[in-house]
Amino acid sequence: MPKIICKCGEILSYSEIPCKIEYKFISDVDYDEYKGMIDSEVLYTQMKSFLKCIKCNRLWIFWNGYEKNPTEYLEIDKMNK
Ligand SMILES: [Zn+2]
Repeated sequence: MPKIICKCGEILSYSEIPCKIEYKFISDVDYDEYKGMIDSEVLYTQMKSFLKCIKCNRLWIFWNGYEKNPTEYLEIDKMNK
């Protein structure tokens, strides 16, 4: 079952479909390759994912797929606490 443990201790499971804590995104350059009608499944395979922790709002971005460790992003006002 795919999951990571957030630094705040929350377990972020991303096996659910659809997943409430997972967000999809695509770069503007990659999206620009698409014209007209788009096959949503094809677009889906090109999108990257991030998880948003519901407890601390950290974002864990999978820049290079799920096989590589995600990069952590923390709200700036929480960095000094
Ligand atoms: Zn967290």
